Amino acid sequence: MSYNPKNIFAKILRGEIPAHKVYEDEHTLAFMDVMPQSDGHTLVIPKVFAETVFDLSPDALKNLIGVTQHIATAAKTAFAADGVTLMQFNGAAAGQTVPHVHFHIIPRYTGKSLQAHGRSMADNALLAQHAEQLRAALNTP
Ligand code: 5GP
Repeated sequence: MSYNPKNIFAKILRGEIPAHKVYEDEHTLAFMDVMPQSDGHTLVIPKVFAETVFDLSPDALKNLIGVTQHIATAAKTAFAADGVTLMQFNGAAAGQTVPHVHFHIIPRYTGKSLQAHGRSMADNALLAQHAEQLRAALNTP
């Protein structure tokens, strides 16, 4: 497995750059996407250094999708969403831009299309507010 430890999510895991965190356990971290495709766009990553799902053990992947389901359920409530899109890309050819495996949780609204992928930075105060809303729905401090 080739893994670039300089990628942005590895830096977030090491605490070298900030993130609006919403959930953390022994194996997993979740935080707001800085270029959200919809209000409440959240990323869920494993703490193990892995580039794609093919680099995860079946147990690690089960854990990751389980936590993703838990957070997506809370996001649907927190952002009063009509639906939730889960997305996951493996490799640049598939659209992956950050080479650390992750799931996207994107709240969706009837008749509203998504913003472009990874295109425009959200206001920091708004991201902080969304993180607070999601932490409240998750009952995490
Ligand atoms: P991918 O294209 O790899 O599936 O998704 C990477 C995601 O990471 C994109 O949605 C992009 O907006 C997000 N992203 C890129 N840089 C950062 C960052 O520094 N912090 C956070 N929180 N998200 C980022």
